[in-house]
Amino acid sequence: MSKVLLFIAVLLGIWWMRRVMSDHGGAARSHEAEQPPKALGETVRPCAHCGVHVPESEGVIDAGGFYCSDAHRRLGPRA
Ligand SMILES: [Zn+2]
Repeated sequence: MSKVLLFIAVLLGIWWMRRVMSDHGGAARSHEAEQPPKALGETVRPCAHCGVHVPESEGVIDAGGFYCSDAHRRLGPRA
């Protein structure tokens, strides 16, 4: 009887491990799938100097506003 219980325990262990591993793989795949929309969904802001729209990560944020480049940040907002 104990051998049967051990057999069931081993089967449950294998099933549980496979379930955990497949869950992990699925999470990794969905995480990768989320990357492109995240990049596309990045905030694009207009440069306060020239008005060119630049992704927030590529521009320069200053107290006076957002700029497409450090050169325009130094020039400041267009009057
Ligand atoms: Zn600019």
